[in-house]
Amino acid sequence: MSKIFTNTTIVTVDPGNTVYYGAALVVDGDSIEAIGPTNDILTKYPDGEVVNCEGKVLFPGLINCHAHITATLNRGITEDFGFPPDLGLPIQTQSLLSDEELTIMALLGALEAIKSGTTTPVQNGAGIATYAQELAKTGLRWIFAESGRDAMTPPGWRPGEDVHEFSDDLRQEVLQRINDIFSEWHGAEDGLITCFPSAALTETSSPELLRSIRDMAEKHDVGYTIHLAQSRLEIESMMRLRGIRPAFYLYKNEFLGERLFAAHCRYVDPSEIALLGQTKSIITHQPAMAANRGVIPPIPALRAAGSPIAMGTDNNTQDMVEVMRIGLVTERIMRDDGKNPQPEDILRETTMGGAHAVRKTTEIGSLEVGKKADLLIVNALQPHLVPTTRIVSSFIHNGQPQDIESVMVNGEFVMRNHKVLTIDEAQIVREADAIGKRAWNEVIKRYPNAGFPTSVAPSSRNQSIQG
Ligand SMILES: [Zn+2]
Repeated sequence: MSKIFTNTTIVTVDPGNTVYYGAALVVDGDSIEAIGPTNDILTKYPDGEVVNCEGKVLFPGLINCHAHITATLNRGITEDFGFPPDLGLPIQTQSLLSDEELTIMALLGALEAIKSGTTTPVQNGAGIATYAQELAKTGLRWIFAESGRDAMTPPGWRPGEDVHEFSDDLRQEVLQRINDIFSEWHGAEDGLITCFPSAALTETSSPELLRSIRDMAEKHDVGYTIHLAQSRLEIESMMRLRGIRPAFYLYKNEFLGERLFAAHCRYVDPSEIALLGQTKSIITHQPAMAANRGVIPPIPALRAAGSPIAMGTDNNTQDMVEVMRIGLVTERIMRDDGKNPQPEDILRETTMGGAHAVRKTTEIGSLEVGKKADLLIVNALQPHLVPTTRIVSSFIHNGQPQDIESVMVNGEFVMRNHKVLTIDEAQIVREADAIGKRAWNEVIKRYPNAGFPTSVAPSSRNQSIQG
């Protein structure tokens, strides 16, 4: 039976940024069947399940183009020690987790994503197969961007440090792993899951790896991604070892272009900005994490040069509501301009911009007839949102994830009236808290001389961690 949301405000993000009032939206199967005045719609569709949305607002689902959901493990730690984090530990704490524990941390990220309005997350990482099955059950429209490197790096190597050697064997292993995830998951769950190949970092990618990743994306007609210019170390290392800046290294190896969405671009110089714009390379901007790192990427210049912009969270948190707000205020600070961007601009880059990056503009990114029913129901009758004179502005400036009552993906609720239907929230939160405390205590205990700069809460349960 179709579902009919009535008496509601609909923020469409269509080409004219239309907002409908007192309107109704009909979902039939996985798609939006009709939008119109409530009375007209009820006359035309007398048989659907009516959901009265008076006082509510429908928004398109948010698209997070750059997430590392298992990095929820680092919450409360790596936000505060720069990039790459200056923690003195010779290993990644994540390496202490069992597959089951890693899956719990992934589900924690997915849970936060749902509760803060993401309907399409791009999970970027190596070894997604470990927890892919559980992510598939969340009902989200996933992009699995399986990522890899063919650099030989010593233990304790941190992103941006010099890389001197690359390995054919490692490259074959990466390409095999990406092929495997395509075979198993590309198009799975009725098309809800899409796979993208990804090179991890410029400094850990040989020219051969870059070309293979791009070729694979072309073969499957999908996009591909990489981290680009995320730290000063990266720029310095590329200049030292290759004699060119990172974006020029990618250009030289035919990696830039319309299929690419490059994460961060925090330290690109004017020549790189022009190159990225000319090649129409897409930039995914993670303003909340960038702000934590003390940097505002040159988004206005990248946009003006011709690069489409999409938005993402990066590590630790998956809250796209916060991403939109920080994206708006940091760009205004950078431009010294209290009028630009407008909230509608930021919302567009977080919805249609994301849809463009994941190459699904005909399916998602706006609430229009014929598109997939990926939407949020926001309760606008809140002390921090009324008067709802200009709801997009109210929500971007003042909105909270808790205002999102329900989330629908592909015509199915994944959260309804604040209850996440596809993940056991209480259990995952409890377990993730225990896993995080145990892992961080274990790593500090193993490396007491590392100079770890802060103290952490004790383990809440005494279970073992696999090493
Ligand atoms: Zn990242």
